Amino acid sequence: MDADVIVIGLGAAGSWAAWRAAQQGARVIGLESRSRLHDDGAYAGESRLFRAAYHEGAHYVPMLLSSRESWLDLELGGCSRIFHDTGVLSIGSPDAPQLEQVRASLAGSGIDHEVLDADEIRARYPQHGLITDEIGVLDRLGGVLRPESAVAEIQRRALEAGAELRDHTDVVAIDETASGVTVTTADGTIDAAQVIVTAGAWTSALLPDLGALLEIKPLALTWFAPDDPRSFDAAVFPAFIRDHGETHLFGVPTLDGSLVKVGYDAKWESVDEPDALVRRMTLEQRDRVARDVHRLVPTLPAAVSRGSVHMDVFTADKTALLGRLSERVVVGTGFSGHGFKLTPAFGDALADLALDREPRFDLAPFAPSRFATAPVAA
Ligand SMILES: Cc1cc2nc3c(=O)[nH]c(=O)nc-3n(C[C@H](O)[C@H](O)[C@H](O)COP(=O)(O)OP(=O)(O)OC[C@H]3O[C@@H](n4cnc5c(N)ncnc54)[C@H](O)[C@@H]3O)c2cc1C
Repeated sequence: MDADVIVIGLGAAGSWAAWRAAQQGARVIGLESRSRLHDDGAYAGESRLFRAAYHEGAHYVPMLLSSRESWLDLELGGCSRIFHDTGVLSIGSPDAPQLEQVRASLAGSGIDHEVLDADEIRARYPQHGLITDEIGVLDRLGGVLRPESAVAEIQRRALEAGAELRDHTDVVAIDETASGVTVTTADGTIDAAQVIVTAGAWTSALLPDLGALLEIKPLALTWFAPDDPRSFDAAVFPAFIRDHGETHLFGVPTLDGSLVKVGYDAKWESVDEPDALVRRMTLEQRDRVARDVHRLVPTLPAAVSRGSVHMDVFTADKTALLGRLSERVVVGTGFSGHGFKLTPAFGDALADLALDREPRFDLAPFAPSRFATAPVAA
């Protein structure tokens, strides 16, 4: 046996799982088809929102609070800035489902927050334009994560804990044997007791039975150069989410002193396989995003300074797949555009599953077996 655990795919979740499994004394080999840090996967683009007030469901709150602590710890012992404590302001119509769910997730949670009416938003955050009498919920535990620094730091911890991380090593097959699992790469085979598959948008190529459950969706990131960058500094301008009709934006204050980043759910067609993703935005796409952004944040210019297209893999209920697929195979994928912030909780859970330890959180909502067509552990 070459290892106790092989981790396939060293994005955030895979790197975290590799670190934690190695920390628990397992012999871990992490395999990454690209370079150790790269911008082809789901974590590229300089920032990811962290929210504690969660429209995706109150059941996430304990995982979110625990993940926040873990991110702060990671930064504390690390080499670079990982978490910016900016707060996150969600703005929408009072009866919009997203805002109702945000408020439901806050009820009884103890999360420090404030509900603002339209006049208060106008007075405190004049950078935003309100279309109707929208309200805002300011989540003071929210903030902005630096994904590239975070993944680099997690991998550094994994190496320190004794994991072996091999880059430019593309896995082409996973075969279960009587005594374990054999992973085949271009360089040969590796045998282990357990494999964790965290291959993001490439997961269905390795685990075709999951193909029907996973959809690869493009997500656009854009950057705007405001006339007065100081008014978008994190000290005066929290990260934000805007929901208006079909438009869903999420934005980050200037972290570099000049550009404001806005993520945009363009609802573009999903792609059949990751390499089919067109990473450049057309001029028409840039204009459309700029128009929508300028309508909701009119103090940003109606022109995109920089834009790029990325992807994440979605499930039908926008809830991750975390669980055991067979005696030897554990999977963590389908993070559905909101998985980065939960990396610590998800990564810990994957390591625990592979090492046959009781995960700290109830993983039932994430079980692949909730889908009738999923392969399930015997
Ligand atoms: C534009 C955008 C904005 C987002 N915004 C937020 C946000 O604000 N907040 C938030 O919490 N989440 C956000 N997300 C979601 C979050 O970033 C993703 O859910 C998360 O990063 C997914 O991580 P992953 O490990 O599954 O995938 P990846 O990061 O893509 O990692 C998979 C890795 O597996 C490797 N791999 C694949 N196949 C193989 C193979 N055969 N052999 C070896 N290695 C392989 C890949 O090269 C890759 O490195 C956003 C996502 C996008 C795209």
